[in-house]
Amino acid sequence: MAAHQPALMEKAPIKTGIFGGTFNPPHIAHLALANYLCEYGGLDEVWLVVSPQNPFKQHVELLDDRLRLQMVQAALEGYPKLRASDVEFRLPRPSYMIRTLTELEAACPDREFTLVIGADNWLAFDRWQSADEILRRFPVVVYPRPGYEIDPSGLPAGVRLVPTPLLEVSSTFIRRAIGEGRDVRYFLHPAVCRFIEERGLYQNT
Ligand code: ATP
Repeated sequence: MAAHQPALMEKAPIKTGIFGGTFNPPHIAHLALANYLCEYGGLDEVWLVVSPQNPFKQHVELLDDRLRLQMVQAALEGYPKLRASDVEFRLPRPSYMIRTLTELEAACPDREFTLVIGADNWLAFDRWQSADEILRRFPVVVYPRPGYEIDPSGLPAGVRLVPTPLLEVSSTFIRRAIGEGRDVRYFLHPAVCRFIEERGLYQNT
């Protein structure tokens, strides 16, 4: 046996982006963004973290937590770099991102979590709970949002702008369109479209 065993090679952590939202419903812009970040944004995976209903802020248009999670799961089938996460369903409400990231870090020591946020959220980031701590402990990827200019040279260490393509679609648009009886199938993943149709979701919004 050699006098000096080579140190066991440490495996590189799986770079995992955390993309939170209500996903009511998930639409093609959410999916294309997460897909782009895996293929071009230096992340191995992106997890879509579904925000739960805030029990103190009942929102008539916000579908049940499980239904939204199921829609995200349905959309991601067949592309293992994207995953749906229900971690926030088990955390105290309201769900602050610092808690979510801390929970994930403790549960998955083989991963490095990166917070994924839009330019709109980045410009208001100092109002987030424990903003400084998030920046100290986690890398952040910012993606562009129309109307919210970011100067990449002014970003702090650990924060980078990934120039993802812009797609102006929102869940509000989808809910309204369905409520008006329009067929907007191409704004949705086919599995999500089927899920919505089969259950008659968003008919009265
Ligand atoms: P709603 O219209 O119900 O407010 P939404 O379409 O903004 O919903 P969310 O579930 O709130 O969807 O989105 C999750 C995250 O995705 C948010 O941070 C949001 O800014 C971002 N996002 C939503 N639509 C787009 C889009 N078209 N391009 C890039 N990011 C988007």
